[in-house]
Amino acid sequence: TLFVRKLLDWAPGTRQHLVSKKSFLGFNGPLHLSARHVWNDALRTEAILQDHFYDSTAEKYALQPVEALSLQQMLEFGRAALLDDSKILSSARHVQKELPKRLARRLMDLQFLPHIVVTNPHIRRVYNAYHHAFDTLRQMPEVQTREDNRQLTSVLQRLVDEHAPMLDALAAGFKECKLKPVVGPKLQLDAFLDGMLRSRISRRIMAEQHICLASSRPGFIGIICAEMSLPDAVRFAAQRTKQICTETFGAAPDVVISCSSSKVVKMPYIPTHLDYMLFELFKNSMRAVVNTCGSRSLPAIHVAICPAPNSVTLRISDQGGGIPEDSLDQVFQYGYTTVDDGNLSAQTQDGEMWAQMAERAALPGGPWRMGGLGFGLPLSRLYARYFGGDLRLVSMPGYGVDTYLSIQYLEGRWEESRVEPHTDA
Ligand code: ADP
Ligand code: MG
Repeated sequence: TLFVRKLLDWAPGTRQHLVSKKSFLGFNGPLHLSARHVWNDALRTEAILQDHFYDSTAEKYALQPVEALSLQQMLEFGRAALLDDSKILSSARHVQKELPKRLARRLMDLQFLPHIVVTNPHIRRVYNAYHHAFDTLRQMPEVQTREDNRQLTSVLQRLVDEHAPMLDALAAGFKECKLKPVVGPKLQLDAFLDGMLRSRISRRIMAEQHICLASSRPGFIGIICAEMSLPDAVRFAAQRTKQICTETFGAAPDVVISCSSSKVVKMPYIPTHLDYMLFELFKNSMRAVVNTCGSRSLPAIHVAICPAPNSVTLRISDQGGGIPEDSLDQVFQYGYTTVDDGNLSAQTQDGEMWAQMAERAALPGGPWRMGGLGFGLPLSRLYARYFGGDLRLVSMPGYGVDTYLSIQYLEGRWEESRVEPHTDA
């Protein structure tokens, strides 16, 4: 205890931070839970306060150029790694070199944010998680052996898992800031979020690709499915969304899939990316249809899958009433939503809102499961554009929306295989 007290005296500001941290974490126990706990916490806090925030190490890393990999290069490299497993070690070194630079750039971006954003507890959590990942990775010795690689892989897996909730933390923190009555409406964070999320996509791809290279799954090269069937992906996402929509609203429209080709459209792609986009688009369409049609019978959502020589376009057509002309510009802004907050936003303070939203989202039938953060469209477009595709909406106000999702085919022409009649529900 004496030691900790000395430490607290030596590090002014720490005590204050610990007290405020105690209240925002909401733990009620005595502050001196154990000397070790406080000691660790004080050290961490001190580092955050005095070092991390203007971290010159991060600055040095952020200045170094990054090397980007295309999906094509990843495929080629992954195929080579299947034949020659010493390639795994060079993949490890590539990941080890690239990730800290990218994390450092994001730390710099976060430091540029307005005070009101940086001090938001959710954004703070994101910042600390990024800093932790940056420090962990840059301090690991360069991978030389398979044993080193096993260690790197398990660290990467842990970081990928730990960072999974950061997307929601970012969205929730951002939403809280936007709700501040004076400063909120003036915050322009779209460019920041685009950069932040694009980088998140590429870091996760790099980490997951490396993790998966070691364990070969049939039909996959790392996380890339070599011949992903688009009708299957659409059917799967439609089914999942329908179920959540039914749990939330008590009903859901059918999804009818048709294909302009008599053959199954297959292409190399990362299934989790396509699934994210389809899930977001189906949630939007289904919510619109249910809200517009109420208890009337729900018109089906039609999906057309149209392969062309270099790309595949998916058109999702709903009769959910469309988007008014004057809101069409806003739907791709982060945080824009027409999901009704109820009186949630007015009555909550910092930090509480996300807890309430998460609680409501977890309830079967909670309205948040179908949308409300306003990240679905902008983030789906980012995913689509990441590999050269795009996402566009055409609205017929009063009737419905046609959503066009295009995906680039990467290796020349899309591959085909003959199947039975191609329309199903
Ligand atoms: P969220 O679903 O969380 O509101 P999104 O980014 O997915 O966020 O969508 C933003 C807004 O765009 C929605 O709140 C809704 O007003 C509008 N929108 C998106 N898709 C449709 C659609 N198919 N029909 C009607 N409105 C839509
Ligand atoms: Mg949505």
